[in-house]
Amino acid sequence: MQQAMTLDLDNGRATLGGQASTFGRIGRPGVGRAIVIAGLAGYAAVLAAVWWGVTHLLPDHVTLTLFGHTRDLKDVHQRIISNVALMLLILPSALWIECVAVGWDRSSARQLIFGRTRSINTDLACLFFGQAHVLDMLGRLMTLGASMLSGLWIRDRLAVWFGLSIDPSALPLVLQVVIFFFVYSFFDYWTHRLDHSRYFWPLHRYHHAADDFCVVNSTRTHPAAFTAIFLINMPMAVLGASPLVMVYVNVVTIALGFLIHSRIDSDFGWVGRWIIQSPNHHRLHHVLDVSEGVSHFGMAPVWDHLFGTWRGDADPSLVIGVETPYRHGFWIGPDLLRDYCDFWKGFVARTPAQA
Ligand SMILES: [Zn+2]
Ligand SMILES: [Zn+2]
Repeated sequence: MQQAMTLDLDNGRATLGGQASTFGRIGRPGVGRAIVIAGLAGYAAVLAAVWWGVTHLLPDHVTLTLFGHTRDLKDVHQRIISNVALMLLILPSALWIECVAVGWDRSSARQLIFGRTRSINTDLACLFFGQAHVLDMLGRLMTLGASMLSGLWIRDRLAVWFGLSIDPSALPLVLQVVIFFFVYSFFDYWTHRLDHSRYFWPLHRYHHAADDFCVVNSTRTHPAAFTAIFLINMPMAVLGASPLVMVYVNVVTIALGFLIHSRIDSDFGWVGRWIIQSPNHHRLHHVLDVSEGVSHFGMAPVWDHLFGTWRGDADPSLVIGVETPYRHGFWIGPDLLRDYCDFWKGFVARTPAQA
């Protein structure tokens, strides 16, 4: 850790960087915050202008003819949103919001630029290889192609075979997104509980191995962690979520993923107790000391309340991580492979995986 960190191992607690004013490097706190907010507003204005340009100046349907081959590109706007939203919109916004909330000195952005730990380098590598579709390909290999199965394909098959078809498209788009967010979070809750079961834990452990929160920690997932493909995407498609609704729900969940792995010290009040998980509650989910059990699985905490995994108050200074040692760093291959082997060993040797 490059940040000042005090550890009280007896109580399993840590304090990061103290509570002092966090804008010392760029002047008085008020001025620093104003600069960060002005930067965010400027960036939002540039993005809005780009978005206007894309939707108004670029056609949504393009026919390309190259060397005698003609190719039809449909849904161009939607493709652009899904491909650039994460890096240009969601991630920078999450970093900015966190920076406004906790100050530059404690922000993930500052640590990503000036104080990367080995654990944060792993998060960055996962983000990079994820964006470059390397993890996708590795996932296909590790899941023997199962990760390529498409929920939409299953939905179409069910419609053909059994005449089963649900079509919520008459509802307003915003309502569909809200409904499917809760549907998504329900399946995500149960997938997440499965991920913490003895068999699937070695793959999910990779995410929990981060030794501190950083916004990009949410992108650290093992490429072979395939439960979500079957238990989230397929039911969502079968229940009639259109590709556009899926894109918006994904944008919401990815943004929330960044937010709950941020260093914002908040439990979000009643919103964090019922509607969306707060960073402090997610820290409690990542806690190193699991002697009291694992809690707070739900992106929407209502599921934790309903299914008995809500523990209550969250402490922002809890130590997070796992007992299993990790190499961390940019070269993620050895850790990924070890966890993949541990996953198979759990089935073959029937030895419980280590926490
Ligand atoms: Zn977990
Ligand atoms: Zn997490």
